[in-house]
This record gives sequence, C-alpha cells and structure tokens, in this order.
Amino acid sequence: MRKKIVVISLTLLLGIMAFWAYYSNYELRLVPNKPHLRPGENTPAPKELKKEFELSGGSERDNRGFPQRKIEDLVSKFPDLFYRQGANDVKKVALTFDDGPDSVYTPQILDILRDNNVKGTFFLIGNRAKLFPEVVQRMVKEGHIVGNHSMTHPNIIKLNKTQTAKEIKECEDVLRSLTGYRTALFRSPYGSLNSEKVQEIAQLKVKIIAWNVDSLDWKSLTAEQVKDNILENVREGSVILQHASGSKEENLTGSVAALKDIIKVLKKEGYQFVTVSELLKIPHKK
Ligand SMILES: [Zn+2]
Repeated sequence: MRKKIVVISLTLLLGIMAFWAYYSNYELRLVPNKPHLRPGENTPAPKELKKEFELSGGSERDNRGFPQRKIEDLVSKFPDLFYRQGANDVKKVALTFDDGPDSVYTPQILDILRDNNVKGTFFLIGNRAKLFPEVVQRMVKEGHIVGNHSMTHPNIIKLNKTQTAKEIKECEDVLRSLTGYRTALFRSPYGSLNSEKVQEIAQLKVKIIAWNVDSLDWKSLTAEQVKDNILENVREGSVILQHASGSKEENLTGSVAALKDIIKVLKKEGYQFVTVSELLKIPHKK
C-alpha cells in the first residue's frame, strides 16, 4: 500500500513538472564557463548597483545564441541597412564595444585604446550614459565614435513598433546631449532582430551594425579565450565585438586584459584599426 502511494505521488510530481516545463518558457540549455566572481579591483561601483544600470531584457548570457544563418539572411535582404563586415580586400578592422558606459571596465578600455592610438566604436545604452556622462564625453574627446544600443537594452523583437522607436529615440537624445551629434548607427541588444524590425528601425534613419567576429566575452572568459576567439576568426573587413560593461555578475577582466595583445598582434600583421563608420563607409552622424 505504502509503495503504491509513493509511486502515485512520484508520477503525479513528474506530471506536474512536465506540465510546467511545457507551458512555461523554461528551456534546458548548457551554458559553459559559468562566471567567476569579479576580482577586487573590478567589483561593481555604487552606481552599477542601481536599478537604471540593469539591462531591461536580462543578462547577455541569458539572451544570446541566435542562429548565425539569420544574420546572413538580413545582410542579403537589406544590403543598405544591415551590416556585419566591411570590404574584404583591405587590411582594416573595427573594434566595437557594447553595453557601456560604466566606471569600471570602460575607462580601462579607453586607456588601452589611447595608449595604442586606436579609435573604436562604442554602442552605448542610454540609461547608462545618463549615469556616467563623463565617460561618454571622454570617448568623444579621444576620437572614438558612439552608436545607439537602445535606452534600456530590451529584447526588441518582443516590443511593438512604438516601444521600439521610443527605445531608439530616447537613447539618441541622451547621446546627442552628451556628444553634440545624433548617431546614425544602431546595434540591436543581444543582436536580436528580424526583417520586420529592420524595416521599422530603418524608418528612424539609422543603419544597423552587427558583427562577424564575436569575442564571446559576455561568458566571462579568460584573456586567452577572448584572444583566441578574436584572432582565430579575424580577417580583412572584420567588425569585432567585445563588451565595455556587463551586468553585475559578468566579469570582463579577461576581455580587457586581452585587448592590448589583440591590438599588438593585429598591428604586427599589418591591420589598421578604424571606426565602424570608416570601415563601412557610412556616416556616423545624421
Ligand atoms: Zn548589448
């Protein structure tokens, strides 16, 4: 009798779990390289613990991993709107940094770029730019260009047309007040996009910039792993993706540490570092 009760309860429990798994958005997945704690000197600063600093769509880690094929489709479908690489016959590459600014990692990246006389492209989150205006002003002063990465970093394919436009326009206004220009470049949070969204966003008179070399640094990788991911995949015309800031638990120490070496190796191989706008031959201002 007792055995029977145990069997029935277990079956019921499994049934409830299966029902929940089927009807909730739960999905099983393997995420390698679980983030380790940030080392002391890179712990989040007080402003980075504020609600406005959070990514409204959740961490990069929980949202990324769309199929590469989809990006290819958008490039061929919208050749004048959607870009992921420059001409492949010139030894030029563009370093791009998403999700900044912050007061921990972004200044370290700016120091390295300045010391190596390299200009980069920063896709900024409006809410974070409001928290760290001086970091944005430093970017402009040191010759980098900034692009729009939305106001709050939502997953835009989950938004309607009005909400999408609001995210982009609000960020554009914040960046304009800090840089003096309206950016004509937009990068979608988590790289999440579809044809419908590309057409909506095009009405806001911005070009959409993706990438073709992903450092995968949002997985809190070591410097060695970040370096390998970039150097093994880079070629003429590459748009390289790294992050200038993350969520609280994300550790970008490895990504920052890798940057100096990446610049050194690529310079030695004869590559020139340019902004995305120069690489793609499109204006960065409206
Ligand atoms: Zn992002």
